[in-house]
Amino acid sequence: VKKLRIDKILSHMGYGTRSEIKKAVKNGYVTVNGKRIKDSGMQVDPYEDLIEIDGETVKYREFIYLMLHKPPGVISATEDIREETVIDLLDLEYALFEPFPVGRLDKDTEGLLILTNDGQLSHNLLSPKKHVPKTYEAIVSGEIGEKEILAFKQGVTLDDGYTTKPAVLEITSVDSGEEGKTSRVLVTIHEGKFHQIKRMFEAVDSEVLYLKRISMGALQLDPLLPIGSYRELTEEELNILT
Ligand code: URA
Repeated sequence: VKKLRIDKILSHMGYGTRSEIKKAVKNGYVTVNGKRIKDSGMQVDPYEDLIEIDGETVKYREFIYLMLHKPPGVISATEDIREETVIDLLDLEYALFEPFPVGRLDKDTEGLLILTNDGQLSHNLLSPKKHVPKTYEAIVSGEIGEKEILAFKQGVTLDDGYTTKPAVLEITSVDSGEEGKTSRVLVTIHEGKFHQIKRMFEAVDSEVLYLKRISMGALQLDPLLPIGSYRELTEEELNILT
């Protein structure tokens, strides 16, 4: 079994910085299997050894899985010098797990983004071989109809010459505004090329005006989760994803 430094475990679980933990160890607050320890670099098995800090049992877990309702204006990266990232939206207790976004949404795109530190899950969801479907709600310019539904079904050729795999386009409504007609649609794709939805509409002479991801695989964006908020995935949600 994998052993880890106790200061790493405790800081990961939100008990303080490495130096704060070093102090707590030195002051005798930390026990392993009932014995007071002196070395904050001690290697322990976080699942088998009983770790207590000031009498409180430390429950260790390695992975975290979050559902974020991404707001527009933040980027799907972990760090950036200039821009606010999705990780900046997290409270410290979650950020300590060092999660990263599973795939990317454009800065101006909203909706479902999974954040995790589980590389295997991320890989499985993004692997081109698995064809995990992603559904987006969009408002696009012009009147979308049967012609575009067929084109998306057959595959459209993007600006770089790539022809998309069959996608499902559904029309929710066509609306007339001051600037002309717009259409409200749902699009499901099974791949994830750069700016794919925007470029697919460009290919049929339309323009995406608003874009929101509402599902990824069997996981739906919780309609009760306010924009900009996040929560941990439930066990059931995690099961349907894996
Ligand atoms: N397609 C896009 O064009 N943008 C996104 O953010 C996601 C899919």
